[in-house]
Amino acid sequence: MSFETACKSIDWIFANIPSDMNGVEVSFIGGEPLIEFELIKKVYGFTHERYPNESFIFYATTNGALLDEEMKSWFLAHKESFVLGLSLDGTPDTHNHNRSNSYDKIDIDFFKNTWPDQGVKMTISEYSLTNLADNVIYIHNLGFREIDGVNLFEGEFDWSDERFVKGIIPHLKKLVDFYVKHDDLMVDQMLGRQIDMCEEPNRAKRKWCGIGTGTIFFDTDGTRRPCPFVTPMTFSNEELADIMKTDFEDPAVFVDEGCFNNCYIYPVCPMCPGANYLVKKTFSERDKSKCRMQKLITLYAADLQARRLLKNPQSVPGNRIYSTIEAIKKIREKFLPEFEKYKDIM
Ligand code: SF4
Repeated sequence: MSFETACKSIDWIFANIPSDMNGVEVSFIGGEPLIEFELIKKVYGFTHERYPNESFIFYATTNGALLDEEMKSWFLAHKESFVLGLSLDGTPDTHNHNRSNSYDKIDIDFFKNTWPDQGVKMTISEYSLTNLADNVIYIHNLGFREIDGVNLFEGEFDWSDERFVKGIIPHLKKLVDFYVKHDDLMVDQMLGRQIDMCEEPNRAKRKWCGIGTGTIFFDTDGTRRPCPFVTPMTFSNEELADIMKTDFEDPAVFVDEGCFNNCYIYPVCPMCPGANYLVKKTFSERDKSKCRMQKLITLYAADLQARRLLKNPQSVPGNRIYSTIEAIKKIREKFLPEFEKYKDIM
């Protein structure tokens, strides 16, 4: 992206902030954003000069391999208004396997000390899955309290394959044990589902993400896209033209009526509208090949909350305890029988 295009994009953002948003996150994604460190600095300078009274923060996800001393001192000086998120896939072995032997190039302490509350982003490959629990635990043991991105549903896996279902059970078990023991840690987004939402009396039809409204992606030529997934890298021009006819303001466009009306765990079953569109050519209809895995993960999320509650009744705010206990009971009743054949390893 040229500097001029970047400035025009920034101007568009500040002229179009949705009324229900209090601030802006300007996020750079790649490949590896730090390849364009000089450009990023210029855009940061431009934005601060042009919009001194607006509320915003800059963010970039990096693999850390290019971060040299000059960059580190710049980021240290700007750490309050520019956050670098680290992509780290787990143990050195997993990370090196996924990311071309680059583990030793990362100054992990720099990330931990500069942004102590920032989680790391973990990408899951088939190789990572074989050691999933150890990868998550390794990252926590490095000193990161939070892991942002254990998103099992990002990758190209066939989650209906029993091999994955059976293979993941020991990892979920191990992670639950770990998070019960270390109850000061933030639970990763996979097991940290807020299951009491399943007890909501009047379910609202909500979007899962800010696609097309709170999230806007600018392509290198400045073209606006609804999100970083819905771009020419994933969709054809005809599909993109069709997608742009969507009313992104209408949450109902993104709701699978079957799931909404019939599935107890609908409020905590994450979905990516872009990924739906890729498979089903519609934003609403969910890919049901993931259902078994979603149910299994929710069962373990319920188990974790039950055990944390027993250990420390304050682990759930008082006004959510009753609905959390109800949700734990119902999730077990509804979904445990489906996994009866794995009872010896669960
Ligand atoms: S588990 Fe399956 S049926 Fe239930 S909400 Fe998720 S996608 Fe829909």
